[in-house]
Amino acid sequence: MARSRARFPGGVNSPVRAFGGVGGEPFVVARGAGSRIWDVDGNEYLDYVLSWGPLVLGHAPRVVLEAVERIMQQGTSFGIPTGLELELAEAIAARMPHLEMMRFVSSGTEAAMSVARLARAVTGRDHLLKFEGCYHGHADSFLVKAGSGVATLGLPNSPGVPSALAELTLTCAFNDLEAVERIARSVPLAAILLEPIVGNGGYIEPVPGFLEGLRRIADETGALLVFDEVMTGFRIAFGGARERFGVNPDLTALGKVIGGGLPVAVYGGRRELMERVAPTGPVYQAGTLSGNPLAMAGGLATLGALTREVHDAITARTARLVAGLTAIASRHGVPFSASHSGSMWGFFFRDTTVRNFDEAKQSDTALFKRFFHAARERGVYLAPSAFEAAFMSAAHSDADIDLTLARLDDAMGVAVQG
Ligand SMILES: *Cc1c(COP(=O)(O)O)cnc(C)c1O
Repeated sequence: MARSRARFPGGVNSPVRAFGGVGGEPFVVARGAGSRIWDVDGNEYLDYVLSWGPLVLGHAPRVVLEAVERIMQQGTSFGIPTGLELELAEAIAARMPHLEMMRFVSSGTEAAMSVARLARAVTGRDHLLKFEGCYHGHADSFLVKAGSGVATLGLPNSPGVPSALAELTLTCAFNDLEAVERIARSVPLAAILLEPIVGNGGYIEPVPGFLEGLRRIADETGALLVFDEVMTGFRIAFGGARERFGVNPDLTALGKVIGGGLPVAVYGGRRELMERVAPTGPVYQAGTLSGNPLAMAGGLATLGALTREVHDAITARTARLVAGLTAIASRHGVPFSASHSGSMWGFFFRDTTVRNFDEAKQSDTALFKRFFHAARERGVYLAPSAFEAAFMSAAHSDADIDLTLARLDDAMGVAVQG
């Protein structure tokens, strides 16, 4: 890490990896297998970060490795259509039929950025509405009250984002439908954009009626409703937020799981909207490595293995972990609220359910830091920030959950001592 700090800002290639949110020295990972990772010093961890979500099958799953290896023998990138792109698109649309048409890109940032451009082009409006604590990648329009990474560093926004652009991104509190209504009726919005379950401000669920309300307000005011499911997609439900909540977005961004650990994201939605993207329409967006065969193979193998039965099994283990952790916190007399949807979960050291980012920030983050380090010392790797969701994979066995709970029970005991 010392050598890395001389070479990379903070020694890392993405800020949250530097452990700014919890202090202490980050570890350097050597390898992963299934539910576990090993650092270069040989320490073993049960991993609940899973590369921040993509690894729904766990580390180095054979099906993904074999698929990528097989495809790799035939070339890694062509910049010409391949059949694999269509196969992955069809696999996605089979689970999320509202993505009638889509475009592959290489990162969630690109997907969210492109979807905003499309929404602006389609509506002829410039303003976006996002929610405090939601992260949509690091494109200029979205580095406004953007949750985890930015909040952990204590930066409300980012220098380098032109104020003329930042002013076009309005924000309000998650779950505050009245504020949305007020804003949407006073400013013509191109899009209301959100994580349907927030994962980047800690794990925060929408209250009943919130998403339905956003759909109604979008319809009444001519804004598009955009679900950024880069994190929630193929995590919170087999068919994503639409299946979980019964609310249809106009446009959707996906990433993380759809690449199974390779760099893939996609945006898509209603055909008449997506047809506005170049070359059928005038909204420009392109990418040299977009849809490259390695990434498509990783995604196809991952979605192929993630059947509804597998999803349900991961969900059941996630439920057991969350219930076990809640019981542990209660035994230790710690203020605690935890929840999950599918294989995405999270907790706050706060005694009532967190509904927005302000409430998330009122949780006991000092206790979180002690708990994080105590867990890590006992071989459980949680996200190094109080404002991040956690994940589960198909590789986490019931025995892993038991071991995790025993270690976290210990860790909680240490953390409450102060
Ligand atoms: C991770 C994430 C992004 C950004 O994706 P990258 O691949 O890191 O650029 C965007 N939106 C959400 C909701 C995310 O969780």
